[in-house]
Amino acid sequence: MNTKVNYKSKKRNLRAGRKNEEFQNSKQNQSKGKQIVYQIQKTILHFFPDLYDRLNEFSDHRKRKHYEVIELLMGGIVMFLFKEGSRNAMNNDRKEDKFSKNYLRLFKLHLPHMDAVDDLMSILKENELEGLKAAMVTALIENHVFRRFKFLGKSYNITIDGTGIASYDKRHCSACQTKTSKTGKVTYFHNVIEAKLVTSSGFSISLATEWASNEGKQEYDKQDCELKAFVRIAEKIKHFFPRLPVLITADGLYPNQTFFKICAKNNWDFIVTLQDKSLKTLQEEICSLKNIVGKGIRIFRAGKNHQTTCEYHYLNELEYKGIIVSWVECIETTLNIKSGITTVMRFAHLTNLEVNNETTVKVSDEGRLRWKIENEGFNTQKNEGYGLGHKFSRKNFNAMKNYYQCLQIAHIINQLAIKSKDINEILNRDKKFTIRKLWERLRSFFVEIDLVKSELIAHKTRKIQIRLI
Ligand SMILES: [Zn+2]
Repeated sequence: MNTKVNYKSKKRNLRAGRKNEEFQNSKQNQSKGKQIVYQIQKTILHFFPDLYDRLNEFSDHRKRKHYEVIELLMGGIVMFLFKEGSRNAMNNDRKEDKFSKNYLRLFKLHLPHMDAVDDLMSILKENELEGLKAAMVTALIENHVFRRFKFLGKSYNITIDGTGIASYDKRHCSACQTKTSKTGKVTYFHNVIEAKLVTSSGFSISLATEWASNEGKQEYDKQDCELKAFVRIAEKIKHFFPRLPVLITADGLYPNQTFFKICAKNNWDFIVTLQDKSLKTLQEEICSLKNIVGKGIRIFRAGKNHQTTCEYHYLNELEYKGIIVSWVECIETTLNIKSGITTVMRFAHLTNLEVNNETTVKVSDEGRLRWKIENEGFNTQKNEGYGLGHKFSRKNFNAMKNYYQCLQIAHIINQLAIKSKDINEILNRDKKFTIRKLWERLRSFFVEIDLVKSELIAHKTRKIQIRLI
């Protein structure tokens, strides 16, 4: 009998324990959701206190004016801030009573229907949101947010790269680019070229955007391409950031006369990948010289699972069609301690900086930072909930460009939120708790729990301090 009672009470205790654990977990989840919501608000207020003033300055050419322009713009930005993934998902959340109320409390704006946002995105001039984005980045630079990442204490690493955004079986708009397969099937697509400020800590901040476009071109004209778009994006960088000390980093597509000349004209430094087959005459010169005068530096890096040896060589005062460049090479040999397998990789760069024993390693490493635009930039925006590649507008190229800018603005705010000490602590405490999960908590918190007005006001009235990692 006693055993039975004990068994029953044990079972009851176990159930109670489990319930308690679930309760604790859901409390913790709510708390994480709440923290990221408040951190996003703090980030906007701290870094971009004039965001609403700027949104109020946008032009308004609409016929129907059910919402304020600022409400529609913010609706478009928040769709990406919350990583909703589609207009439909945002509209579904909008139907939830608490979501709309919380939105109003947090942003002090009504949450519009996404069809109304779409109407604005279709007619809004593409330079307006890009101008806002540039103003936000300027504010971050002026507030020295990226100062500690300056290359040799002097310039910001601005990396240039392109990526595919959408492809279609049928023509989508008059600006579509085309490719024809061997079987004659025509695919229509859109590529974008980005200039992003990248840092070793993982920031990938959009400075300027240029779309490859066949607008106004006849069928027999050559299509637009990344290198042509670079000429335009360089003008944009100069226009938006005229006094910014720039170090351009780019992949093996870029080293050519036009690229070198644009950098020289703008007084920009560059570190660009040199592929084996490009700039043949220069490669021959490098080959003949490196065996005679090429200096060598060897660095050994030991990790938990790897042992890496990097051997660097460099040459100065090389000439390519009247342009003086330096060459840096890194041969990286990595031994995987567990498997015993050795891999060898080679990285070669050209730069207009003079290289010496002290700077060789830094130049080579900085040149390799351009990978950040692919990983922290394009891949994050494509695969981590921002929906880059999702057709937010199926028909309108102008709307597509404007959604793209909303995404870039939201990604800037979210990167600052993630890299705050508070949020970093949440992510570090439990390695299994990912950024993706944090945003799931954010959305469920916003749908289920009432934001407490007093806490939000407290944020506004206190002087906000944000420490970044
Ligand atoms: Zn198109």
